Amino acid sequence: MKAIGLFSGGLDSLLSVKVMQEQGIEIEALNLNILFHPRTPEVCVVSMAEKLGVPLKVIDAGQDLIDIVKRPRHGFGRNMNPCIDCRIMKFRKAREYMAESGASFIFTGEVLGERPMSQTMEAMKLIERESGLEGLVLRPLCAKLMEPTIPEIKGWVNREKLLDIQGRGRKPQIALARHYGITDYPSPAGGCKLTEPNFANRLRELMAHDPGFTINDVTLLMVGRHFRLSDKVKAVVGRDAQDNLRLVACATPDDLLIEMIDTPGPTTLIRGVDVESYLEKAGILTVSFAKSAGIGLVKTRVSDGAGRKSVDMYFKPDDKDGFRVMMLAQNA
Ligand code: SF4
Repeated sequence: MKAIGLFSGGLDSLLSVKVMQEQGIEIEALNLNILFHPRTPEVCVVSMAEKLGVPLKVIDAGQDLIDIVKRPRHGFGRNMNPCIDCRIMKFRKAREYMAESGASFIFTGEVLGERPMSQTMEAMKLIERESGLEGLVLRPLCAKLMEPTIPEIKGWVNREKLLDIQGRGRKPQIALARHYGITDYPSPAGGCKLTEPNFANRLRELMAHDPGFTINDVTLLMVGRHFRLSDKVKAVVGRDAQDNLRLVACATPDDLLIEMIDTPGPTTLIRGVDVESYLEKAGILTVSFAKSAGIGLVKTRVSDGAGRKSVDMYFKPDDKDGFRVMMLAQNA
């Protein structure tokens, strides 16, 4: 008997695989890559699946979740997390993959009551119904608290060997991890950016100014300090060398990049409509956030986002506190 395990790489999903392995079920792990989990990159998920000895399928669902964020049928949680619609989308994709791979049911690491929006009994039933998976979603960590599923009724899995974990405490999961000898798992803090208040504020701000935003715009929200220069123009200033590299990687041909040449300091990306008109302001902003800049003119290189044209320009630092009124909520 084969099952598809929804696999985020978090502790609960690791444990659910272990519990199912003990029942002799053939398992394939399915990771839905949603872009908003930047701290559990694909490489970690791959190595965790390898350690568990299960094959892994990764499906990119970033655009699907962006479409949901623009118009969630079941609304948002406390921040910009449309958890119910997100779970329905993931379950639908899992159902498609289940059929494609010849599996008979899916299982998840969900724990009843662990998450306020999507892991109540009512929400779980709704998600199952709307994804066309009624009776076919087994939750090994809390199955004993729920109605028996088809895999249990048909005897594919032994209900007696499933668990009854519930609530937000992590103690039972940590004890179970110890039992299975699992020591290397991500902390719960590395979660979905849509649940973070500051990120949610940035996203709301983006949606208000550019309702047609793209995956690239969202990726950019996770980098640097953001400044609103006008209704249609934003500057993003790198906070460190890693941010600077990420800004260059995010740049599209319509963006402008300002990079410091002779002194270390931030790279700035300018995005929006008629960005050239905001070059002077963004140039001053850039050198004002350079710790190493003195009070005189600072040399920078301005290029288009495609890296085809560049020109050296000089800007004079100003009091950076004057720019703070334009600064949007910072990422954690
Ligand atoms: S927390 Fe994020 S990834 Fe998880 S269900 Fe909600 S929106 Fe989806």
